[in-house]
Amino acid sequence: MEMTTCNVCGKIFGAPSGSICPACRKLLDIVYEKARAYLRDNPKAEMKARELAKAIGEDERLVEILMIEGRFENKDSEEGDSAAEKKRKKLLEDLQRSLAKPAPKEEGMTTYGSDRHGGDRFGRG
Ligand SMILES: [Zn+2]
Repeated sequence: MEMTTCNVCGKIFGAPSGSICPACRKLLDIVYEKARAYLRDNPKAEMKARELAKAIGEDERLVEILMIEGRFENKDSEEGDSAAEKKRKKLLEDLQRSLAKPAPKEEGMTTYGSDRHGGDRFGRG
């Protein structure tokens, strides 16, 4: 088995995949749960490893690794955003359509009337 140095604690361990030892992986899960709960309660909190780590009282390095791994990317909210985005786009299109009215047509009365009177024929004879 290949030996890898743990990204978190620096311990050398046999790694089938990844570069975080099982002990730290467990720890990361706990930190992740904490961080996620914190972000849920503070949606406007800055996504900075240092700030987040301080807020939840965990090691900055652990939070950083979670961020690098993309654990905080919420796919559910992304879907919601795209649905809202679609709606907004449609509203915008409607607005643009109502603003960009077609230029008013020039209405000129240009009917060439041709009144011709044919002469009467008297065919008496
Ligand atoms: Zn470790």
